[in-house]
Amino acid sequence: MPVNKKRYAELKELLNKSGTTLVAVSKTKPVEDIRELYELGHRDFGENYVQELVDKQPQLPHDIRWHFIGHLQSNKVKYIAPFVHLVHGVDSASLLREINKQGLKNNRVIDCLLQVHVAQEETKFGLDEKELDKLMAIPAYPHARIRGLMGMASFSSDTTLVRREFNRLKQLFIKYTHVHPEFNILSMGMSGDYAIAIEEGSTMVRIGSLLFGNR
Ligand SMILES: *Cc1c(COP(=O)(O)O)cnc(C)c1O
Repeated sequence: MPVNKKRYAELKELLNKSGTTLVAVSKTKPVEDIRELYELGHRDFGENYVQELVDKQPQLPHDIRWHFIGHLQSNKVKYIAPFVHLVHGVDSASLLREINKQGLKNNRVIDCLLQVHVAQEETKFGLDEKELDKLMAIPAYPHARIRGLMGMASFSSDTTLVRREFNRLKQLFIKYTHVHPEFNILSMGMSGDYAIAIEEGSTMVRIGSLLFGNR
């Protein structure tokens, strides 16, 4: 399915107004779809699976900023460490340590977001507040830089619930914004709930199906 260019234009206009970054989530979509959006000037793309990202990255222009938004296993960090722009789903100290190690090996600083669990669903990954506090208390790593937080709201039509969850994430984000000036990214909002996320203070939305069609 071709990219929905009209939607893209509308979305960009809305996001420009609020200063929100759009990560176009291209998981399971062919490189042709990514290239189509790239040609409209888009550079931020999100992928969930390491193998898929590693396959696609060399086939596409090198100025694409690749966001890894899936659950990252420590033993796979090395495959994306040379080029990944931002790792959204860091949810353990050991993963952060491994990212730092691979950042050092590649002579770069890898930007990361800590994933916080705010949804009701048990299955979603992420830290609770206590675990987040613990991770934020670790002295800063030179090659893995925590840039902010990422989270997902419940998959629910109850907008009050979704708003409350995003607001909670925002409050946790505010709690740490003093830590360092680069702690300034709040990644929340997907195709179904991005409007609420923006109202609640998102600085980065991750949108897939709205742009690329259903998976
Ligand atoms: C797939 C995915 C998205 C995009 O979902 P859509 O509903 O297609 O916009 C955003 N964030 C994460 C973590 C995802 O896995």
